[in-house]
Amino acid sequence: MLKIYLDYAATTPIDPKALKAMTPYLKKDFGNASSIHNFGQKALSAIDEARVSVADFLGCQPQEVYFTASATEANNLALQGVIKALAKENKRPHIITSCIEHHAVSETVKHLQKQGAETTFVSVDKEGIISLSELKKAIKENTVLVSVIYANNEIGTIQPIAEIAKILKNRGRKIYFHTDAVQAVNYLDCNVEKLGVDLLTLSSHKIYGPKGVGALYVKKGTPIEPLIFGGGHERGLRSGTENVPGIVGLGSAIKEIQNPKTKIHNIKIKQLRNKIIKQVPKLIPRVKLNGSAVQRLPNNANFSFEGVEGEALVVALDQKGIAVSTGSACSSRTLEASHVLLALGLPEEEAHGSLRISLGKYTTGKEIDKFLKVLPPVVARLREISGYKKNA
Ligand code: PLP
Repeated sequence: MLKIYLDYAATTPIDPKALKAMTPYLKKDFGNASSIHNFGQKALSAIDEARVSVADFLGCQPQEVYFTASATEANNLALQGVIKALAKENKRPHIITSCIEHHAVSETVKHLQKQGAETTFVSVDKEGIISLSELKKAIKENTVLVSVIYANNEIGTIQPIAEIAKILKNRGRKIYFHTDAVQAVNYLDCNVEKLGVDLLTLSSHKIYGPKGVGALYVKKGTPIEPLIFGGGHERGLRSGTENVPGIVGLGSAIKEIQNPKTKIHNIKIKQLRNKIIKQVPKLIPRVKLNGSAVQRLPNNANFSFEGVEGEALVVALDQKGIAVSTGSACSSRTLEASHVLLALGLPEEEAHGSLRISLGKYTTGKEIDKFLKVLPPVVARLREISGYKKNA
C-alpha cells in the first residue's frame, strides 16, 4: 500500500545531508566534547560549527545559542530559568502568555504559577490571533516575562511577534520576551533582532534534523539560571554531555533552510496546501477550516468535520495508508478536546473532531490528489456509523 505522510508538524524525516554530516560523529569521531585530546577537540569544533550555523540563521552571536535535548527543555529553561533568576528581586513575578501555547510552554507556566508566580493567559480571536489590546491591558508593575508562540502547531496561525515586542518596549523597566518558534523555523523569518525577542526556542526534528535536540537563543544580558546542574556544559546553563551527532545534524538542517531550494519547496508546499483548503469544502459538506486563512503557515490545514471524531478519522485514514493527526502529536494520545480549538470558541464536539494535515518538502501533488480522493468516502462512512444526520 502507498504510504502518504502528511504529519510534518509532528516530525520530519531526516534530510540526507544532515544524516551524512552526523554519521562520522556516531562512528570514528565519537569523542566527548569535554575531552582535551584530539577526539574531544574534534567533537568540540563540530559543536562550535553548528552553533555558528544556528546563530547565522537567527542573526545573533554564537555565544547566545544554547543546545538542549528538545524544544520542550528549551521552553522550560527559558521560562523557569528567567523566573528563577528574577525571583531574588521580585517575590511575585507576573508572566503573560497566550491561551494557544504548546503544552511545553503552557504547562511550564502553570507549574510556575504553583510555585507562586502570577500568570495571565491572553485570549485569541476566532482565527487564533492573540488580542493585542488584552495583552497591553494585562501588563502590570510586576510583569517580567511574556511568552507567545510564533506559529501554532495545530492551526498554523502566525502571531505578530514583532508588534508584541514593540508593545513590551519602553515601559520604564525590562519585560523579557520569549517565543516558541518551533513550527515557524522552516517558513518564517526568525531573525531575533527583527522579531525583537530576548529568548527563542527551536527544535531539530521539525526541520529535517534528528530528534532529541533543541536550541535556545538567549540575548546577551538576559538573566537566566540553569535548571540542570553538573559539569557546567553549555557555559554553565545546561549541564550534560553534548549530543554531538544530534547537534551537528541540527546545524546542517538549519543551514539547509537558507538554501535557495527551500524557497522553491515552500512555494510548492503552499500551492498543494491551498489545493487542500480549496477542495476539501467542495468535496465534503459541513466542514470548517480552523485558524486564519491568511496569517497561517504555508504547510498547515486544519478542519473540523461535523459529526466525525478526529481520532476515528485519523485511524480510518491510517488504514488507507495516510498519516495525519488530530492536532498536537505530543498530546494527541489524550482524548481531551484541543485547548487551541476551544480557545477559538469551537464547541467541545467540534474541538474533538478536528484533523490536522501538515505538508513538507517531500510531499507530492500525487499524494495530495490521493488524499483528496480517499478523504470524502472515509468521512461519509464515519458519519454513517455515528448516525450523523445533516440537519440534526
Ligand atoms: N513547541 C511546539 C510549537 C511544538 O510543535 C513542539 C512539538 O510538537 C514542541 C514545542 C516540543 O518540541 P520537542 O519535541 O523538541 O520537545
